[in-house]
Amino acid sequence: MRALVLVITAALAAPRDPFTSQREALADSLGQRGIRDKRVLDAIRSVPRHAFVPQTQHPWAYSDTPLPIGLGQTISQPFVVAVMTELLDVRGHHRVLEIGTGSGYQAAILSGLVKEVFTIELEPELARSGAERLRLLGYSNVIVKQGDGYRGWPEQSPFDRVIVTAAPPEVPQSLIDQLKPGGRLVAPVGRGEQWLQVIDKGHDGKIKRQSVLPVRFVPMRRGKGQ
Ligand code: SAH
Repeated sequence: MRALVLVITAALAAPRDPFTSQREALADSLGQRGIRDKRVLDAIRSVPRHAFVPQTQHPWAYSDTPLPIGLGQTISQPFVVAVMTELLDVRGHHRVLEIGTGSGYQAAILSGLVKEVFTIELEPELARSGAERLRLLGYSNVIVKQGDGYRGWPEQSPFDRVIVTAAPPEVPQSLIDQLKPGGRLVAPVGRGEQWLQVIDKGHDGKIKRQSVLPVRFVPMRRGKGQ
C-alpha cells in the first residue's frame, strides 16, 4: 500500500506527456555534449518543446536540430539554446531581455531560472502566437512585446542579462546601453559567418567581448519605421 502511494505521488510530482522520455534523452545527450549547468539541463527536461513547434514537426521536436516555426523563422537547435542559456549565467533575481521571441521556447527555458523575461518579436503574428502559447503553458513571468529589438526596451531597462536570438551584423549599442554594470549579453553576430559573442559590462562600465562558437541564426531585421 505504501509503495502504491509512493508511486502515485511520484507520478503526480512529475507530469508526464507522450514526449517525456524523449525529452529526458535530449537533456542527457546535451549533458554528454558538454552542458554542465544542471539548472539548464533541468529546464530542457521540463519545457515541452513539442508545444512550441507546429504539429507537423512533432516527430522531430526532441531531435537536436532547429525546426521551422513559420514565416521563414526557426526555433533554435536545443544544443545552442542550452549553450546560450549556460553562457548567460543567470540568477533567480535577474530580469532578462530577449530579442527574437519566435516560438517562445528560449523564453520558456529562461522563465524558471530568473525573475522576469522581457522578450521582443518583430513579426506581429509570431509575437501574438508566442505570447498566447506562453500564457497557456503558464509561463507567467514572461512579458512579450511586438517591436524592433534594435531599440531594446528602454522603459524596462536596465537588464541583468540580454540574450539575442537573431543575428545582427554588430551588437546594437542600444542593447549594451540597457545592460546593468556587471551585466552580460550573449548574441550571434555577423552576416555570412556568425559567431556567438559574449559581452560583459564591468562594474566600471568597461566592455569586454569574447567570440565563443560559430553559429547559424536567422538575421536580425530592421523594423519599418520603428
Ligand atoms: N528565440 C526563438 C528563436 C528565434 S528565431 C525561439 O526560441 O523560438 C529569431 C526571431 O527573431 C524570429 O522570430 C524573427 O522574427 C525575430 N527577429 C528578427 N529581427 C528582429 C528584430 N529586429 N527585433 C525583434 N525580433 C526580431
